Order: sequence, then C-alpha cells, then structure tokens
Amino acid sequence: MYEAFFRPQQVAVVGASSQPGKVSYDVLHNLLSHGFQGRVIPVNPKAGEILGAPVAASIADLPMGLDLAVVALRAGLVPQALRELAERGTKAVVVVSAGFKEVGGAGRELERELKEVLRANPAMRLIGPNCVGIIDTFVGLNASFAGAMPRPGNLGFFSQSGAMCLAILDWSLDNNIGFSKFVSLGNKAGLTEVEMLELMALDPQTKVILGYLEAVEDGRRFMEVARRVTRVKPVVLFKSGVSGSGARAASSHTGALAGADVAYEAAFRQCGVQRAHSVRELFNLAVALANQPLPLGRGLGILTNSGGPGIICADAAEAQGLHLVALRPETALELRSFLPGIASVYNPVDTTGGATAQTYRRCLATLLSDDNVSAGVVIATPTAALKPLDVAREICAVPAEKPVFAVLMGHHSVQQARDYCLAHNLPAYEFPEEAAQALAGMLNYRQWLEAPPARPDLVPGDRQAVQKIIASLRRQGRRQLSELEARACLVAYGVPVARSLAAATSEEAVAAARELGLPVVMKIDSPGIIHKSDVGGVRVNLASEAAVAEAFLDMTTRIQRQHPETWLRGVLVQEMVAGGRETIVGVSRDPQFGHLLMFGLGGIYVEVLGDVSFRVAPLARDEALEMVRSVRSFPLLRGVRGEPPADLTALTQALLALGSLAHDFPEVAEAEINPLLVLPRGQGAVAVDGRITLAPAKGDT
Ligand code: ADP
Ligand code: MG
Repeated sequence: MYEAFFRPQQVAVVGASSQPGKVSYDVLHNLLSHGFQGRVIPVNPKAGEILGAPVAASIADLPMGLDLAVVALRAGLVPQALRELAERGTKAVVVVSAGFKEVGGAGRELERELKEVLRANPAMRLIGPNCVGIIDTFVGLNASFAGAMPRPGNLGFFSQSGAMCLAILDWSLDNNIGFSKFVSLGNKAGLTEVEMLELMALDPQTKVILGYLEAVEDGRRFMEVARRVTRVKPVVLFKSGVSGSGARAASSHTGALAGADVAYEAAFRQCGVQRAHSVRELFNLAVALANQPLPLGRGLGILTNSGGPGIICADAAEAQGLHLVALRPETALELRSFLPGIASVYNPVDTTGGATAQTYRRCLATLLSDDNVSAGVVIATPTAALKPLDVAREICAVPAEKPVFAVLMGHHSVQQARDYCLAHNLPAYEFPEEAAQALAGMLNYRQWLEAPPARPDLVPGDRQAVQKIIASLRRQGRRQLSELEARACLVAYGVPVARSLAAATSEEAVAAARELGLPVVMKIDSPGIIHKSDVGGVRVNLASEAAVAEAFLDMTTRIQRQHPETWLRGVLVQEMVAGGRETIVGVSRDPQFGHLLMFGLGGIYVEVLGDVSFRVAPLARDEALEMVRSVRSFPLLRGVRGEPPADLTALTQALLALGSLAHDFPEVAEAEINPLLVLPRGQGAVAVDGRITLAPAKGDT
C-alpha cells in the first residue's frame, strides 16, 4: 500500500481536463511539474495529449495493475470509475471529487456506494473522497490540486480538512516548514488516520507525524495503533471540537461530565499522542521534536539580553512543569569572567542590552556545559547594536547535545534570523511561551517513551452473579439497576459496600438499626427516585432508636406527600461510615473509545467543581493511581492540616474493579459509586451509594 500511494511507477488522472482552472487539470499539472519520475497518464474520452502527456481514452485503456489513480470526476461517476479501476487491478486510488457524505442526501448515498465498491475489492485502497490529494516531496510526487508544492522536510502531515491542508501548506512556505508527506484524508471512506499513522511510521523520511483531526473513526483501533507508533516516532495531533460538549443522555454525574473531548484527551494521553490545541502549537512542537534531541530532565537554563522576556519565559516554563535550575558556581564564575558587572550570571542569565552576537555564543556554550541544565532557551530582543541574524549565526554554531530553542522576539526585523535558525535545525519562536510549551511537550514525550507499556490490571469478578442480575433486568425490560442490585454487582467485583437492610415500617427500621449498630443512615428506597438527597431522602448519623423511628415516619410521609405519584418501597437502613473522604468513581460509555473511567472528589459538588479525571478503561494499577493524583484537589487525599492520608490502595482498587466490571459487561452504559468514602490509609474504602444503568438491549427503541 505504501509503495502504491507514495512510490508509484505509474499514475493515472481519471477525468483529466485540458482546461486550466479545473481541479483535474491542476492535479495533472502538479504531477508533471515537481520532478516526479514516474509515468503520468491522463484519462479523457477525447484522447490526444494534455500538457504533453499522451491521453488514455478510457480506464479500460490503462495498464493492468496500475499503482495509483487520481479520480477527479463528477461525484456521480465515481463509483463506476472505481469499479473499472478495480477490474484493472489498480492498487491505490485518491478521489479528489467532492459531493459525497459532506453534502448529505444523494451524496451520502454515493459515498455508501463507493464504500461498497471498496468492500468488494479489498485489494484496492482509497484516500478520500472530498480531499485535496497526496504529496510526497522525496520523489516530487504531487497528486493534488494544491496551489503549491511544500518544501521538502521531515514532517509527515495528514489532515481531515482539505481547507486546513491548503492553508497550512501556504503558511508553511513562508515559515521554513518542510514536509516529507502531505496527505489530505477528506471523508476517510477508505484510509483513515489509523492507516496514516501506520504508513508514516514506516516512512524513513518522516521523523515526526502530525495531523489535524475532527474525529477518529474507530477509537479502540486508533489507540492500539497509536500506542505502537508513538514508540517509534512522535505523533502530534491537533484535534478540534473541544467545545462540542457531546451532549448525551446521562443519568449520572459521570455521564454528564464525560463530554466527547475528555475521551480524546484521555485516549491521546494513554497512547502517547501529544495533543496540540492550535496550528501554531502543532508546528511549534513538531519542529522541536524533528530537530532537537529530547531533554533529559526538567532543568531549564535561560539566556536573554533583557529582563522582561526572561521573566515571561521563566513563568511559562514553571507553569509547564519545567524548573529554572540553579547554575553551578563554576558556571556563574565563568560567565562573570566575561560579562559586564551589571549582567546577571544566575538563571535567567541576563547579558543586558550591550551584548554582542559573540557574547551570545560564549554564554550559550557556558550555560549548556552546566550539568544542571537539561535544555536552553536563548532569547534575543533586537537592539540597535545587535543584529538578529548575527545572533542566529553564532548560536547555531554552538555544538549542543541538549535541546536548544531560540526566541527571536518580534517579527519583522528578525524574520531572516529565524529562517537561518530553522534552516540550521534550531527551532526559533517569536515569543518565549512558545519555547516553554514546546519543551514541555518534548518532556511529555520522553516520559511516555520511558514508561513501560501499560498492561491492564483486570480484577477477576464473580461474572455469573452479575450475569444473573442483568438477565433478570432484561427479562423485565428494565435498564436501571436498583440500589440493591447495583450493590450486588459491586460486591461481585470486590468493592466493599456499606451494609444496609431494607425496611418497610418504622419497627423494621428500628430492628435494622439494632442489627447494624448505631449510629445509622436512612435512605428513601424507591425505584422512581434517583437523587435521594434532592428530595430529602437521606438522613445521616441517626444515633438512637427513637431517632430512627422518627426519621422513618418523617421521611416517608413527607416524600409521599410531595411526590404522590411515586411508589415508595420503604427505606434502606445503612451503617454509618465516619471519617471517610467523599470521592466519586464512575464509568460511562463513549461512542468512540468505549468505556471511560472517571474519578473526582467533592461528593455532591462534583459537577460544580468539575475537578475530575478521565481515562479509557481498562487501566493498569499505575495508571489508576496516576489518574487519582491528577485531579487538582489531590492534596486533600494526601492529607492536609494534620489529616491522615487516605487509603489510595483501596481507592485505586475500586477504580480497577469498576473498569473490570465494564470490561466484562460491555452492556453497562453507566456505573457510578457516589460517594466512595475513602478511609485513612490501611482502613479501606466503602461504597455507600451505587448506580448502574444498562445500554438499551438490541431491539429496544
Ligand atoms: P444520593 O446521592 O442519592 O443523594 P447518597 O446515598 O449518596 O444519596 O447520600 C447522600 C450523601 O449522604 C452522601 O454523599 C454522603 O455524604 C452521605 N452518606 C450517605 N450514606 C452514608 C453512609 N453510609 N455513611 C456516611 N455518610 C453517608
Ligand atoms: Mg450519591
């Protein structure tokens, strides 16, 4: 497949026009204009010659086993052309025609037809439709209608949006960004981002893979492939649609908080994909990864000729988790030996305004020789005496085994200097924050490479017990497990739950309390009430039998009066769990990535605070622990103001258990323990409220 698309011997342009200005003419023109050595065959019933290339009158006249065909026909003609191409054993096709799924209606139908042709002819692979085409700079192959040829380079780029392709190509020309491959994926009827990752991973000319995505087609496969590819080379993706909250029906906090974007965020993190949030961030990081070695540590050394930018850089670096290291005394002494007295020889090293380009060179070499420094950022603000291009020349001449970034502040007067840096493999940014961000991305990637591959820790549960409960629910046509049923499922996976007893009268409630031991908690028990405390259906710390009897009468009569239509089964009397930290542990189903685990603190305030973390299930124990650590309020679990630390082992075990339950029973749509009360270290964690919902059964509407 790689050879057919990117190293073709023969390329046909089906529907090639002799009229300049038409897409099909542009494709042909591009194929003939950038040094491509293979044979290019226009296909057009009028035959003759176009742009000097002899025309084939029909697909039937093309050689058998053709490598690549670019189809630029009207959408309606495409499926038939594909059939004919398949008949001739064509290996790869790029469909640049628009008018498919993206226009809806009849276009959607055409796309279905196109996919059918592909299914019937699995040996023929397709990119598109509705794409700009593909480009490989290494062999001068430009099978696209883009207005220009990208500069050669070592970035492999793919994009779902054709417009982004064209805009980025145009922008890259002025910014010294070069590409190995440049691929527009379009509607992804055939090849998707997954195959692009695989192909570019194999490509010796591609050092960094980058892409623009609106969605992935198959989340699980994407993760599986990305996990492998990111071990071989870095992958940086700009995924848009952060604001599309993915509104979906949800009866739990987990479901309500799990928008589409958190799933992507989690999935990317778990397969080592670096995520960018803008085109600029995408290229800033890609250029850094492609041109500089990965930093060994978080220690940053900054060299500047002015205070402000140095401080901005320091702030940005700290915010990104980098550290401004203390320089070794030898380093400071050495710097002092040639810098003026007013200069700062501590980090950031500030030469002050009088620095020459030679000063920069010496300072940078000294800074990098310091063992505490893992990476260097060189900031230059143009002054009357300082020529940015000279600075660029000098700093590029410093031999470096550590990553170095240039920040040449401003735009106009430093453009040439930045170009010089980029041409000499030194990433050059306009502003210090960009350098700090790129460096943080590199560190993230390095951490990913160093971490051993995560193997899910599945908790063996009593599957039969859960299976029975689910089967009985299905028979009754219910999807919402009762509290007792949910509890039984949790118990089956080893999650400790607070003991509770059902009571239908105040006498039964008192007897239950006696059996459990005072104090107890009382909760309304009704299939119609999901959020019990919202209706005053939870009373905690009932310390006497009299209080239990009183609470029963009060709770049942009040709620019955306020909700006359609701059937009350009675109450649950539950053992009171004291001294636990309130956490929420949940799992919900994402349409792209499958089950998504959520962890958060804050009990009833969880939705307001939104301080939660998500991961795609199932998880390794380390990942579960890292997930717990990654919420902002984690210090509350570690223990503040003399509080004992919480039992993190029990907490992560509960996360793993819920993930395993979901893994074993894909029909679980949502499961949530809210709260899981986490006791001090060594004392465990107890679920006091659980909720499980099944996905609609096949055949349900
Ligand atoms: P709901 O979420 O339906 O309103 P819960 O069963 O979660 O009802 O109870 C509400 C709150 O009451 C919990 O978040 C917790 O703070 C407290 N609570 C419930 N059960 C217990 C218990 N057994 N021990 C201690 N506190 C409890
Ligand atoms: Mg609750």
